[in-house]
Amino acid sequence: MNTTSRASGRCLCGGVSFQVFGDLRDVFNCHCHRCRRFTGHHMAATAANAADLKVEDDDGNLRWFYPVADAGYAFCQKCGSSLFWQARLATDRISICAGTLDPPTNLKTIHAWWTSEASDYHARPALQEFATE
Ligand SMILES: [Zn+2]
Ligand SMILES: [Zn+2]
Repeated sequence: MNTTSRASGRCLCGGVSFQVFGDLRDVFNCHCHRCRRFTGHHMAATAANAADLKVEDDDGNLRWFYPVADAGYAFCQKCGSSLFWQARLATDRISICAGTLDPPTNLKTIHAWWTSEASDYHARPALQEFATE
């Protein structure tokens, strides 16, 4: 693990905070029905090596929800902030909801995934699109 923090972030109430000590991927928007309902719009997530993520959660507010066996979503049980996403088959990586990062992130949004499941109200910006993953 690097010893220099690349980024920091937190939930709305501050009960869960984190630092990332490695590289962050640029941001993917995921419009799949699960990400849409979890976030209330679409997932905008960066990603890091799981070993590079250090979470501070002194009061035990971080909760994981598994809508399916192979994917989990993490949120703060106190304020409801969407925080992380992880595939159980790729636990070496973790996705981080980009809006929880303290700006400037120096990241760009580059892809839109699962656009076939985007809701009809959403006018998408011009991104490289993938109808499914
Ligand atoms: Zn919170
Ligand atoms: Zn998704």
